[in-house]
Amino acid sequence: MRRSGHPTGAGLKDYRSYSFWLETCGDDLTPRPPLPSDLDVDVAIVGAGYTGLWTAYYLARSDPKLRIAVLEKEIAGFGASGRNGGWCSALFAASKEKVAARHGREAAVALQRELFNTVDEIGKVTAEEGMDVHYDKGGTLAFATSPAHVERLREEIQDERRWGFGEEDHRWLGPEEAAGRIAVRESRGAAFTPHCAALHPARLVRGLARAVERRGVKLFEDTAAVDLGPGGVRTLHGRVKAEIVVRATEGYTPTLPGFERAVIPVYSLMIATEPLPESFWSEVGWSRRETLTDGRHLIIYAQRTADGRIAFGGRGAPYHFGSRIEDRFDREPWVFAELRRSLVGLFPQATSARITHAWGGPLGIARDWYSSVGLDRRRGLAWAGGYVGDGVGTSNLAGRTLADLILGEDTVITRLPWVGHRSRAWEPEPLRWLGVNVALRTMSSADRAEARTGRPARRADLIRRLTLGG
Ligand SMILES: Cc1cc2nc3c(=O)[nH]c(=O)nc-3n(C[C@H](O)[C@H](O)[C@H](O)COP(=O)(O)OP(=O)(O)OC[C@H]3O[C@@H](n4cnc5c(N)ncnc54)[C@H](O)[C@@H]3O)c2cc1C
Repeated sequence: MRRSGHPTGAGLKDYRSYSFWLETCGDDLTPRPPLPSDLDVDVAIVGAGYTGLWTAYYLARSDPKLRIAVLEKEIAGFGASGRNGGWCSALFAASKEKVAARHGREAAVALQRELFNTVDEIGKVTAEEGMDVHYDKGGTLAFATSPAHVERLREEIQDERRWGFGEEDHRWLGPEEAAGRIAVRESRGAAFTPHCAALHPARLVRGLARAVERRGVKLFEDTAAVDLGPGGVRTLHGRVKAEIVVRATEGYTPTLPGFERAVIPVYSLMIATEPLPESFWSEVGWSRRETLTDGRHLIIYAQRTADGRIAFGGRGAPYHFGSRIEDRFDREPWVFAELRRSLVGLFPQATSARITHAWGGPLGIARDWYSSVGLDRRRGLAWAGGYVGDGVGTSNLAGRTLADLILGEDTVITRLPWVGHRSRAWEPEPLRWLGVNVALRTMSSADRAEARTGRPARRADLIRRLTLGG
């Protein structure tokens, strides 16, 4: 089994080893040259994941004359954008209740509708730009494999109805209909939404890097920003002077001076099977490449890859004291074993399938679990992030919004209720470490209790509200 993060002998990192996706993206991962010397631009973007690159893309598309530089510490797609589950969903980290409590019901619904559009926007732009990202809009199936799951998932659909979303957006599939899509063991039905596409995450981020370069954006890899502030960015290779600086560093943000408590890096881990035989797929179905999850508290997520594997991920890895990020945290053998157990639990036919890849990476969580995008025009500082595990879609909306904000355009999307939102800082250590890890453990114990008793374990909802804000 390949595991992530092994440097090569020459002292260079083997970037392909950071995820199944980076290994199979078909792009040359040799870092582009670093910033050669001091530079003067209009917009400097720190971080070449989806957020940074979508922002560069929409800016360059709207105003080809703008001088834009993207500065990346490693290579484009090194972060979560090159490692994720490839769910291009319309999910938003904060609940509609939370958004509506601050901005009203209409604003919460408008944000949701724009996220629905965003799934299509990504399909459209990648097709226009000739990026083969294995985009397939098959929707999401959330399976119920216990009575507690049925109760929770059906409640969620009822809740969507109260927000005005109909059968075309969310509906319940009975056991037979659900099995007709994907044959999951002990399925009692599934909640279905069409608003999600499966894609190859690294093909998307690497394709975006090439698309922005074609539009004249300068992308410097192997260029770590050591400080960013009004007027520019200081790197190890020189200074970049810019009217606007965009912080697009998501889970890595706490490594920047002044942003230590802005978000926390929480690890999500994944495994991938070998390509599964036709006999498996004819038994299981899964012909529309729907993204798949179930009703448990500690999230799992899966997709059928274009080359016929199952890529399967989940949370549960511990948060590391002081928001530390290290390559070795991408590998938690017990989490990989747990993921394999869950996968085989849903698909016993995969019991003997080889797990060929295992990897992970940090995502970013704001203290109130409220993703945000904004521009402080006076200081010339912009940001976007705190997407938790929903950044594939949300980062595209962030990129479009930042482009409009930077260009001074007042549009429908610059009025959405996450624009300009400020989350409070996370607690200092050791409170942060204690709170987050207790929350993670409680959700996992609630899942075990529900599997045993079949009844909903409310402790998970309570602890999530208290510590993780969800
Ligand atoms: C295992 C996993 C599974 C996930 N699954 C899903 C999913 O299925 N669907 C979904 O919607 N979301 C998912 N997510 C979340 C999603 O991947 C992220 O929200 C999204 O990729 C964030 O993009 P980003 O560009 O903001 O951040 P990143 O992709 O993390 O990019 C940040 C970049 O900044 C660079 N950087 C950091 N510090 C510096 C510095 N000092 N100077 C210069 N550059 C710097 C990093 O090297 C990195 O390339 C998952 C995340 C993980 C880890």
